[in-house]
Amino acid sequence: MVPFIDLKAQYRGIKAEIDQAVTRVLESSQFVLGPEVAAFEQEFAAYCAVKHAIAVNTGTSALHLGMLAAGIGAGDEVITVPFTFVATVAAIRYTGATPVFVDIDPRTFTMDPGQLEAAITPRTKAVLPVHLYGHPADMDPILEVARRHKLLVIEDACQAHGAEYKGRRAGSLGDLGCFSFYPGKNLGAYGEGGLVTTHDSEFDRKIRLLRDWGAEHKYEHVLAGYNCRMDGLQGAILRVKLRHLERWTEARRAHAARYDHLLEGGIATPKAAEWARHVYHIYAVRTPDRTRWQKSCSDRGIHTGIHYPIPVHLQKAYADPRYRAGAFPHSEAAAREVLSLPMFPEMTEEQIQEVCTAVREIAGKDLSATRS
Ligand SMILES: *Cc1c(COP(=O)(O)O)cnc(C)c1O
Repeated sequence: MVPFIDLKAQYRGIKAEIDQAVTRVLESSQFVLGPEVAAFEQEFAAYCAVKHAIAVNTGTSALHLGMLAAGIGAGDEVITVPFTFVATVAAIRYTGATPVFVDIDPRTFTMDPGQLEAAITPRTKAVLPVHLYGHPADMDPILEVARRHKLLVIEDACQAHGAEYKGRRAGSLGDLGCFSFYPGKNLGAYGEGGLVTTHDSEFDRKIRLLRDWGAEHKYEHVLAGYNCRMDGLQGAILRVKLRHLERWTEARRAHAARYDHLLEGGIATPKAAEWARHVYHIYAVRTPDRTRWQKSCSDRGIHTGIHYPIPVHLQKAYADPRYRAGAFPHSEAAAREVLSLPMFPEMTEEQIQEVCTAVREIAGKDLSATRS
């Protein structure tokens, strides 16, 4: 049996530190925001090499409040990709703005910068590339087009903690970076969590107001805000886990390299661009025969996932008459063919071999020549 991810194994590895941090918060009873959250903000800002980090309750809120702080609202258009988790697009809708899609580059599963310019209209306010699976989008050409048209760039870095583009960290490349600490993410809370990064002190001020009822002082509301505060417990837990993130990321990268090697020859494995530090939130192979592959994996006790089976423009809830089936062929093909293999830092060499043996067998490749 190989699970898709193993959060219990991770907890066992850091139990003493976590239990101590949790006790500290319980003893202090600072359950919402407070010193642990403030310290986490500083530490995560340093990790991303940005000036400001604002902790919130979810990655979705990070996207939503980030866009609100940037002045995005009804009548505006935000350009993103349809091959993403639905939250990217939901957050655009929450602001009242209209999502506009461009297709992905099938080599990286991220926004194709070559299609960006054609999607810009006088209403376009921002570009929202997604660093999907932990692979950064090709930011230089995206930033170049955005700057030329005076558009904001907001990174959906919810799957990309520690990913790098030409040596620069995800979340530090655009005007705003949005992170999620959902438990299964590369840096996961023990509950919900999110955060916005920015170099801009005005955005920082606005997001801090928006996450806490827009109150400049207690009961003095200068903005129509929200309750999007991070829990004290999550702040303390994330501080502990951040100290292990680089080690975990390197483990993911090593596992991906083993997968690449053991699956080489006939299986479509993910390829990182030469300018990318891929952090492998997801390790997805591609096959037109996905239904059978997934079922056969499951029969062998290997848990896989599909991220994501329906591109957002074809979701009932987000239907838009401008976008029919066939509008974004690379996103639609990816949605049909991707299969996410187990990937978590605590995976053992035996588990990786078990997955690869199964996948090669299912794919009909010769297994007798076991690779090592
Ligand atoms: C997880 C995720 C989000 C949303 O984060 P939550 O913390 O679950 O709200 C947004 N975008 C992408 C690409 C994600 O993977």
